[in-house]
Amino acid sequence: MIDRPSAKLQVRRLSGLDFFPADDVAVEELISAALEAENHEACRKAFDSLIYDANRCPTPGDIRRVVRIENERFKSTWANPIKPSEPLCAKCQSNGYFERPGGVFDRCDCDNGLEFSQILLDQLNQKPEPKKSSAPTEAKVQRTVRLAETLEKI
Ligand SMILES: [Zn+2]
Repeated sequence: MIDRPSAKLQVRRLSGLDFFPADDVAVEELISAALEAENHEACRKAFDSLIYDANRCPTPGDIRRVVRIENERFKSTWANPIKPSEPLCAKCQSNGYFERPGGVFDRCDCDNGLEFSQILLDQLNQKPEPKKSSAPTEAKVQRTVRLAETLEKI
């Protein structure tokens, strides 16, 4: 978790982009998304890649997604200083993801992109979507019983 002024500072970097919210409440959403960064470096890197060639302001969802990736990276080999620096990928600047026209983020097909999808996959496996119970509800059972009784009478 980073401090509020730092999160705010990063969000202010977006203020020159199209569709930057004029509404304080909407700006607050962007800040709270930025606050999910585990440290300043992860936050700064997330915003660097969000801003790079962006022409519209990212949504809170965009920010959360990229911040989460940078958080994970920080925990993994990404922060390992022994890792030799390689030339940056021309497509994604070695972020593993890039922005398509229309503001959709997509995975790059380079090694970093593969790492990126692995991180996403791990996250999906860690947090499975809560499944809706397929067991029939009490009301449903009663309706079925009533229907069966009615059918018997006919
Ligand atoms: Zn790439």
